[in-house]
This record gives sequence, C-alpha cells and structure tokens, in this order.
Amino acid sequence: MSRWQDLIRDVADFPRPGILFKDITPVLADADGFEEAVEAMAEPWRGMALDAVIGVESRGFILGAALARALGTGFVPVRKPGKLPGATLTAEYALEYGSDRLQIRTDALPPGARVIVVDDVLATGGTLRAAVALAQRQGAHVLGAAVLVELGFLQARDRWDAALPLRAAATF
Ligand code: 5GP
Repeated sequence: MSRWQDLIRDVADFPRPGILFKDITPVLADADGFEEAVEAMAEPWRGMALDAVIGVESRGFILGAALARALGTGFVPVRKPGKLPGATLTAEYALEYGSDRLQIRTDALPPGARVIVVDDVLATGGTLRAAVALAQRQGAHVLGAAVLVELGFLQARDRWDAALPLRAAATF
C-alpha cells in the first residue's frame, strides 16, 4: 500500500452511529502524502486533452483544485444550493434518508469543454452521478470521473454508466 493510503483514518460512528467514516484530512495535512495522493489521482488522465476539472463541494474542491494544477487545467466548482452567483442548473439526488441538491453555473464552461468530475470519496455514488449529470446538462463533454477513495462494498459501480471511466486512487 502507498504511504498516503496509510494516512487515511477510520472514524467509527461518524457522522451517524453505524457509519465507518474514511477521514482523508490527515492525507491533506502531510506534504508528501498530499503530493502522492494527487499524483495517484492524476496518473490515469495524463496526456489527455482536458479543459477543466469539476470538483464537488467541499472536499472535491481541495482535491479537484490540486488535480487541476497537476493536469494544467481550469477548475469549476459544483456547489450546494444558493452558493453560486448568477444563473445555475440544479440536480436533485436521493440520499439514504431524503434528498440533496447540487448546482453548477450555466456559463461555467464553453459548450463541449472536455472535463473530468472529482470528489474525495465514492460511497453509494449518488453525489458523483449527480455532479456528472449537471456537467453534461451544462454542455461539458465529461470524459470520466476521479475519486481518491472508493468504498467498494457499497457497489456504486453497479449504478454507474459503464461507458464512463471511473478511476479511484484507492479502493477499500
Ligand atoms: P455518495 O453520494 O457516494 O453516497 O457519498 C459521497 C459523498 O459523501 C462525497 O461527497 C463524500 O465527501 C461523502 N462521503 C461519504 N462517505 C464518506 C466517507 O467515508 N469519508 C469521506 N471523507 N466522505 C464521505
């Protein structure tokens, strides 16, 4: 296992009883760990013509912005409702209990911009699927999605578009 993976901390019963939360903040706090983690995320996309990385609020901002710099692209935020100025598109998606929404600016990127969508952790996959759908509705050409950590036992890939590359730097 890479050293950066050893820095991921398991937190029991967070944010609710029964959930084993993967805390990635110790990876971010470690200079070498952060660099290795971003490089592991960047590696599958190197050499591809990309215009932007789209990052999901909020840990997707941290990794997405670092990845954008590593790949030499722009960065576009997908945010929780009411945070972005100007005209936005909204996607609603189901959670275990209830639903949530994400937004992107309608003019975030020119039509056909080549992008990847980034978040920290893939759990059930609902968040990343919603962010991809938003980017596509905005007019971007989504080439794939990247996460630092995939929680494989939640089987998000069963509900993922098999034609869209989904790359995880680590799977637990
Ligand atoms: P999903 O929509 O795939 O069920 O959940 C993914 C979203 O919830 C991501 O935005 C991610 O930040 C957050 N998330 C879910 N489980 C975890 C976890 O164990 N660790 C971290 N850091 N984030 C999680």
